Amino acid sequence: MSIVMKPSATKDEIDAVIQKIKSSGLRADVSSGEYQTVIGIVGDEKKVDFDQVKSMGGVFDAIRIQVPYRLISRSYIPDDVVVKVGSIAIGKDNPPVYMAGPCSKCVRRHPSPPCQFCRGGAFKPRTSVHSFQGLGVEGLEHLESVGKDLGMPTVTEIRSEVDVELVARHTDVLQIGARNMFNQDLIEAAARTGKPIFFKRGFSAQIDEYLSFAERIVANGNRNVLLCERGIMPLGGSFKLQTRFTLDLNAVPVLRKETPFPVIADPSHGTGRRDLVLPMSRAAIASGAHGLMIEVHDRPQEALSDGAQAVLPQELKKIINVSDLVFKTIRDSDSPFSSDIRNGTARA
Ligand code: PEP
Ligand code: MN
Repeated sequence: MSIVMKPSATKDEIDAVIQKIKSSGLRADVSSGEYQTVIGIVGDEKKVDFDQVKSMGGVFDAIRIQVPYRLISRSYIPDDVVVKVGSIAIGKDNPPVYMAGPCSKCVRRHPSPPCQFCRGGAFKPRTSVHSFQGLGVEGLEHLESVGKDLGMPTVTEIRSEVDVELVARHTDVLQIGARNMFNQDLIEAAARTGKPIFFKRGFSAQIDEYLSFAERIVANGNRNVLLCERGIMPLGGSFKLQTRFTLDLNAVPVLRKETPFPVIADPSHGTGRRDLVLPMSRAAIASGAHGLMIEVHDRPQEALSDGAQAVLPQELKKIINVSDLVFKTIRDSDSPFSSDIRNGTARA
C-alpha cells in the first residue's frame, strides 16, 4: 500500500498514519517530497485496514501496489532516483558513469582509467577453492589508497555478513555479487550501513526475484540502490559456449520501467570476452543503462582472475568515448525513442 498524504497534511496527521501502521506491528517507510509525503508499509500490509487508512485526516489517497517489491516500484516512487556518491550523480538523465578496475585487486600498479569509480575485488567469490580468493584486508587497503590517489570513490564486493563493517570502513560503495543476490542477511546488514549498495542480479534470477531482494535494501532504510545487470546463464547444451554469460539487455528497460533506481550494466561478466566488451557497452547504453562496470587490467595475462574479459586501459578509454557518444546521440536527438530511453518508459 502506498499512502499519499495531501500537500496540506499536518505533521500530526502524518504521525497518526505512521502510528496506525506501527500499532499493527508493522514499519512505515516515509518519503517526504517537496510537495507531499508518501508512506509505504514494511511487512504484511493486510494487517492494516485499507478503507480506514483512506479515510484518515490528511490522506489524499491509498493505493494498493500489485508487485511484491512495492517500496522500489514506480507506483511508490514515480520519478527516477538519483544516487549520489560524493559529487557524482548516478541515474535519471545524468551522463553515464563508469566503474573500472581489475576483477581482483592485486598490489601491482592500478590502471588509472578515465572513469568515475575505481573497482577491485578483495574478497572474491570463486567456484573453486583452489582459485585465488582475493587479498582480503590487504586488497581493501590497497584499493582505498588507489581511490585516494586517483580522487575516485571505490567499489568492492562484500562476500560475507561478517565483513560488512570492515569493508564499509574502507570503501565508498558496497557490491553484493551475483552469487549472493539471494543472501538476505548479507543484503540487510550491508543496507544498514547506509552506504550505496551496488546490487548485482543473480545469473539465474528472475527479475521479480531480483527486485524482491533489492526491496530489502530500501526496507532497511537505505535508498542508495544501484542495480546491475551482469548476465544470465547462457544456453549451450552440449555445444561449446561462445560467451560466459548472456548479458540480458532486456533487463535494462524492464528494470527502468519497474523501478526508478539507476541501472548499471556489466558487459565484462555478461560476455566473459574482452572483444565483446565494446559492442555490448554501446548496446547497454543504447538500451538505457545509467553506467557500466568494466574490468580492466594493464597485463590481462597476469590477472589473478577473469583475465580473459579484462580490457587494456587504452581499450577502456575507447569504450568510454564510444559509450558517451551513444548516450549523447540519443539524448540530443528529438525522436520519441530518445525520450523513452531517457525516461525509462519505452513503450511497446
Ligand atoms: C565481480 O564483479 O568481479 C564479480 C565477481 O561479479 P559477479 O558477482 O557479477 O560474478
Ligand atoms: Mn570478475
